[in-house]
Amino acid sequence: MLKKYLLFFILILCQISGCATVQTGLDRQENIFITTPQEVAIGEKVIQQIEKENKILNNPVLTGYVNKVGQKLAEVCFRRDIDYHFKIIDSEMINAFALPGGFIYVYGGALAAMDNEAQLAAVLAHEMGHVAARHGVKQLQKAQIYGALSSILLKDEKKAIAELSNMAANLVFLGYSREAEFEADKLGVHFAVQAGYDPKGMLEFFDKLKQKEKKEPGKLEVLLRTHPSTSERIGKIESQITVIEKQDLIRNEAEFKAMIKRLEERY
Ligand SMILES: [Zn+2]
Repeated sequence: MLKKYLLFFILILCQISGCATVQTGLDRQENIFITTPQEVAIGEKVIQQIEKENKILNNPVLTGYVNKVGQKLAEVCFRRDIDYHFKIIDSEMINAFALPGGFIYVYGGALAAMDNEAQLAAVLAHEMGHVAARHGVKQLQKAQIYGALSSILLKDEKKAIAELSNMAANLVFLGYSREAEFEADKLGVHFAVQAGYDPKGMLEFFDKLKQKEKKEPGKLEVLLRTHPSTSERIGKIESQITVIEKQDLIRNEAEFKAMIKRLEERY
């Protein structure tokens, strides 16, 4: 009950301070208290922690290629108020994640498990879906509704960003809700198709996950803990893909394989 009143109070404050609703491009208005510059500042702080704890792959050609695919997706993404950045984590784990503010990371193990550019686009587009739908920001708002949000509203921005970035770093590996994950899959297929990619790339990648779940479950531990079951995801995507009628979709197997050769024998 108290929580309800507090939320109401914050919403009123928000109306007064003019940060109330944001048109998300998802046919719905949402109450977003954390502004885009604040979201980017939070992401930049979390990067420092992520990059201290994980090794970033230092291969400009491969990173440039991942970034090229990512920027193609960014061009069709409805959220245009931030820049998207893509990096590779040098680890055999099969996973990817997005930080608030458009910072997207894919693990080397995930790249090594793929066999064409459409699959890479699907994974990056799923992560972009989390950023575009502001899942990270909404999760932060929910988790820290009394503390940091009141700091934001009371204009103690520095304190709010410090508090929120500490929380964001922990939330990244706790995962989003099931609904958010399904929404990111749906948006991912949408962005991939808009950018000209074959949306079957997402299904193919899920098939790879299913094979790996049997053979090398350790590599998927975080991904499976933070996402709904792969079978459920396949079911939803299959029904979305059947209504897409686009010709000449990109798969780009040759270039992808040539690039990924750089990771051979690494994991
Ligand atoms: Zn996800």
